[in-house]
Amino acid sequence: MGVELGLGLGLGLGLGLGEAGEGYDLGMTPEAALLRVIHCLDRAHETGFKAKAFTRALDVIRTTPAAEIELRVAKNSLQELDGIGKSTAAVIIDAVEGREPEYLKKVEASSRVDITLAGQVYRDALRGDCHLHSTWSDGGAPVEAMAATAMAIGHEYMVQTDHSARLTIAHGLNEERLSEQLDQIAEVNAAIAAAGHDFRVLSGMEVDILVDGSLDLSDGMLKRLDVVVASVHSKLRMDKAQMTERMLMAVASPHVDILGHCTGRMIGKRPPSDFDADDVFAACAQFNTAVEINCRPERLDPPLELIDLAIELGCWFSIDSDAHATGQLEWQPLGCDRAAARNVPIDRIINTLPAEDLLAWTRQSAAA
Ligand SMILES: [Zn+2]
Ligand SMILES: [Zn+2]
Repeated sequence: MGVELGLGLGLGLGLGLGEAGEGYDLGMTPEAALLRVIHCLDRAHETGFKAKAFTRALDVIRTTPAAEIELRVAKNSLQELDGIGKSTAAVIIDAVEGREPEYLKKVEASSRVDITLAGQVYRDALRGDCHLHSTWSDGGAPVEAMAATAMAIGHEYMVQTDHSARLTIAHGLNEERLSEQLDQIAEVNAAIAAAGHDFRVLSGMEVDILVDGSLDLSDGMLKRLDVVVASVHSKLRMDKAQMTERMLMAVASPHVDILGHCTGRMIGKRPPSDFDADDVFAACAQFNTAVEINCRPERLDPPLELIDLAIELGCWFSIDSDAHATGQLEWQPLGCDRAAARNVPIDRIINTLPAEDLLAWTRQSAAA
């Protein structure tokens, strides 16, 4: 595990190189170059043919000896390998020959996530990300790669929040797997500390709010987690009174720290759920449950008028990427722009807190 982890972290840090617009690392291996292309396609929310082709090429590179790849580059026979096409071969050839891949240059530039000047003030204040997924549930990257990227984009911590068991389509974690994940997070943290980095992976889960308002995890396990996000993923069209009751139950739970993507809307595809936002946000303020500003471009949840209401009712907020891949960790600017547009008080955003203060805040909310 140690070696694997070291590799993961090294590659992950490589992924961050283009972030600040710095020069290309000429020592980049074909694997690192392909990973960086995939990272950029992820942040551009490109999930189609291109992303699949590069993911497939990455598999091939990882399972083919480096000497064979170099030989094939010399003989121009890379495309004879099943899973390597014209674009992916070009990236590999450039990397092997020590050039910045042309394709990578293009995708770096075209996938950059824009942010307004006002939004940048919020982004600069963020120290972490409280909602993100890994290959433990439906994410595309392992915990250590998510951590390395979060570190590379300047975070001090991230909360690993994979799905709970009820969300079977997302390969949600039952208690046994969550327990294994907690062990892995401890190992990742040990490796990060051993490498001299000041960064922490906090434990957590995106727990389903069940139809009756109960949570999809036992109290015993909820207690073990640093930060708990609770979200509605099923029966989104429940009638207003029932949905309100359901959400109030979850928000009032001493274990719940963040209410995830509260309306459940999918822009252009699914309308927001119907619930009494005055009641739910008033309870969020009362029980110290932060209202998430979800940054996924298809969610951008809550809608702006609900952000206004949550400010008015004195809620806490958390600006979270809900990333399912390393590149998506770069989506926080989308939420920062929305927070800036509505003047969310920066001192009410829990992920502007240092990790220790965030943990103290969650304990306080657990005691409330
Ligand atoms: Zn969710
Ligand atoms: Zn999520």
